[in-house]
Amino acid sequence: MIVAKFGGKSVGSAKSVETICRIVKSEIKKNPVIVVSAVSQVTNMLVALADADFGTFDEIFNKIKAAHFDLIASLWEISPTELTGYIDSCLNSLKAIASQESKTKADMDSLLMHGEMMSSYIIAHYLTESGIKSQQVLATELIVTDREFGSAEFIPDLTAKKTKTIIEPLLNAGIVPVITGFLGATEKGEPTTLGRGGSDYSASIIGFALNASEVQIWSDVDGIFSADPRAVSKAKLIKNISFKEASELAYFGAKILHPSTLRPAMKAGIPVRVMNTMNPKNSGTTIQKDSLSVNEIKAITSKKNIKLINLYSADMLFGKGFLARIFAIFSKHNVSIDLVSVSEVSVSVTMDNQDNLKLALQELSEFTSVANLPDFGIVSLVGDRIVKIPHIMKNIFTILDAQKIGVKMISLGATDINISVVIESSKIETAVESLHNELLLKL
Ligand code: ASP
Ligand code: MG
Repeated sequence: MIVAKFGGKSVGSAKSVETICRIVKSEIKKNPVIVVSAVSQVTNMLVALADADFGTFDEIFNKIKAAHFDLIASLWEISPTELTGYIDSCLNSLKAIASQESKTKADMDSLLMHGEMMSSYIIAHYLTESGIKSQQVLATELIVTDREFGSAEFIPDLTAKKTKTIIEPLLNAGIVPVITGFLGATEKGEPTTLGRGGSDYSASIIGFALNASEVQIWSDVDGIFSADPRAVSKAKLIKNISFKEASELAYFGAKILHPSTLRPAMKAGIPVRVMNTMNPKNSGTTIQKDSLSVNEIKAITSKKNIKLINLYSADMLFGKGFLARIFAIFSKHNVSIDLVSVSEVSVSVTMDNQDNLKLALQELSEFTSVANLPDFGIVSLVGDRIVKIPHIMKNIFTILDAQKIGVKMISLGATDINISVVIESSKIETAVESLHNELLLKL
């Protein structure tokens, strides 16, 4: 069996719902299990509804209502009463939660779940009427999570057990399950969400639980590109990439998948395929266990607006435990670090701007000199064993030098898979484009 996840835009209009239906029909022999997001923009609107004041509440509520009833009206000449009844009851229940004066994080998750409840019900109903026997399944019945409301983590063994118990009989009866993405529930049954964009993660979790042969993530891009196609016109589609390579890309800002998506699939060795609902004939990008090619740069990615922190202390010379002390302080203040470079008497780290950074730096300045340089960016070259490509470093420096871009810090990934250079933020676009075109298109 396969798991196919459809994002918000794929459930946003009659045309896209019909496309889902066609895709499900074409994959029907593989026993598809469907995972869906809320209708496009609905989760954002639910968040806004929770914060709305007296003046805007009704307006936002009516928009949420219209998003669903307009979709139903465009799919059916006469709206099925069972369906409109379900949507009405969801709207009533979400209104009750949104109107509460104060809301805990748990309340927020109970509110947000309604987006996926409504979209999955509409899709299941439409599939069934199109001749594909199908049934809505709430992920609160399948995915067991911890109590981190808003960004819950799933518990593998409990989830696998519950998911198999509920989904396998449906598949055996020839029914296509349409599962709500983004959601789970605690052991006690309190609804949780897996973080924004979490339906990708749900699909991978369900794939893991059912030991699927493939997890398909259908969105509105053809797959993963060798660089951001909006910034680099010559970027090309990557057909195959390994889990490790793709994780590096997710980490450094290629926002195609929810960052946790690959973990469960990777654990179970299940390939994840990224595909485009607008272009279903294109085979997309397959992310799998091993790379099919090594010593090759697969992609270049970048991240802007990072901080470069230089810490210097003469005490570090011959000192022991100095690094441990520094990192303990970052960790104590919950500051997460991207790249690190160490010399005998100094440490440089890069990071996103973070709430507690000031506190951490204050504490560090008690025993080191601290330089906090804003406005930097990271360009990362990713590919299995790229560090071993002949003259790779020399080539990178030559290309950047030709553009008069100075390198402030460099990091070679511990697994030979990533070379990152830190440069001024304003030079990122030029660096990415020239490195991409010189190294990926010419070599
Ligand atoms: N509907 C949720 C969100 O907008 C989850 C998802 O779409 O993946 O974040
Ligand atoms: Mg998404």
